[in-house]
Amino acid sequence: MGRVEGKVAIVTGGALGIGQTTCLFLAKEGAKVAVTDILDKEGQQVTDKIKGFGGLAKFWHLDVSKEEEVKKVFTDINKTFGKINILVNNAGISGVSKPTDEITEEEWDRVMAINVKGVFFCTKQVIPYMRKTGDGSIINLSSIYGIVSAPDVPPYHASKGAVRIMTKTDAFLYAKDNIRVNSVHPGFIWTPMLENFLRSQGDVEAGRRMLDSLQPIGHIGETEDIANGILYLASDESKFVTGSELVIDGGYTAK
Ligand code: NAP
Repeated sequence: MGRVEGKVAIVTGGALGIGQTTCLFLAKEGAKVAVTDILDKEGQQVTDKIKGFGGLAKFWHLDVSKEEEVKKVFTDINKTFGKINILVNNAGISGVSKPTDEITEEEWDRVMAINVKGVFFCTKQVIPYMRKTGDGSIINLSSIYGIVSAPDVPPYHASKGAVRIMTKTDAFLYAKDNIRVNSVHPGFIWTPMLENFLRSQGDVEAGRRMLDSLQPIGHIGETEDIANGILYLASDESKFVTGSELVIDGGYTAK
């Protein structure tokens, strides 16, 4: 029996990185997976991979910063799969890395629109379906940057701090509906987002070696490290866990 057998899961930003591995893990453990992303080709490839090992998945184009799109896509997912049990609010961007006094309002708003409003819109639109299903697990991707500071990406830090506390408020609000809400706080994980960020800063390999040295465990993490945590929170194994923050960071925040 799979760990999420019979459940229906939505993953935002599911085409690449942590979202992609999460889609694969959820499908391998028996969930029907709605893979959603703004990247159509890559998203479709994820569903093809899932179908390749006998899993059940469908791709939907979804920009989480557009509420009407979220509403339409979630209605269609519910119609296609019959219910919704799991939402992984994973879509996110790192945004600009400049000191606060050099950031424009537009640059600030772009990060907030995806990382914060995206989580708000998806949570808001999924609650009625989860109430109807009678259970739910919402997993929000925050970050170690939502817990501790560093002298870079100020809007990203603010957005991930917001996601951390939004998670706890929603956990409180929806516990009576049997809907659990938890946040996951990855440390540095090797994904296209991290690679692109390092490229924008200069030498990717040198950047990776520098990041490796920041973890007590001696290296940065892989998408599997995070997807395993998400899978636990999505499954009934975590039935007494809500409002919690799961830090997966190779010991970075243990300092
Ligand atoms: P990633 O490799 O960039 O993958 C994220 C996916 O989301 C991409 O396909 C991206 O498309 C998509 N996306 C961007 N904007 C979107 C939007 N408006 N609507 C829907 N999808 C959108 O990122 P990742 O590293 O796997 O990160 C996943 C989550 O974990 C993010 O919330 C991130 O903040 C968090 N996180 C990551 C790390 C890390 O070290 N990687 C650490 C802590 C937390 P594009 O490629 O076109 O942008």
